[in-house]
Amino acid sequence: MLASTSDMGKRILLHVCCGPCSTSSVERLIAEGYTPVLFFSDSNIFPYEEFRKRYDNLLIVAEHYNLDVILDDWEHDKWLKAVEGHEKDPEHGARCSICFDYNLHRAAAKAEELGIDEFTTTLTVSRFKKSESIFSEGRKYAGFKEIDFKKKDGFNKSIILSRELGLYRQQWCGCEFSRRRE
Ligand code: SF4
Repeated sequence: MLASTSDMGKRILLHVCCGPCSTSSVERLIAEGYTPVLFFSDSNIFPYEEFRKRYDNLLIVAEHYNLDVILDDWEHDKWLKAVEGHEKDPEHGARCSICFDYNLHRAAAKAEELGIDEFTTTLTVSRFKKSESIFSEGRKYAGFKEIDFKKKDGFNKSIILSRELGLYRQQWCGCEFSRRRE
């Protein structure tokens, strides 16, 4: 689904995990001369209402920066199959690596489909995620650009920008297994 359009610089596909994490990532990419195309591909998020809520908040960001946003299918059953056997893994374990790979694989395919040479992800904004674990999955795919969005104060900036835009900020990562620890 295409929600808006803009054309400011070289396009880069930005896999987005949620609206708040997209804020400082988008600002950094624009400052570096890119036009991010936002790709919401997060079949890990459960339940669907939560997926939709995070997407709706991304639309606020897309409108604010006048950027295109693409909504991928929510295929949670397929995602569950991919992480089967790792349901009890701790966060930062094998399940999370599979999860990163699942979403980055789809981002790589979408970038190729759209003829966009580079792609990256907002997942590195979170101070709860190790950027190197995300990079090691992204490196499997041509065009992946390693950007550590938590650097340059990215995490704190995302909190400030989210407040300014009135965005919903969730308290757990996304899947039902991360929610169990609430
Ligand atoms: S905790 Fe987060 S990164 Fe890990 S599998 Fe769940 S949704 Fe994916």
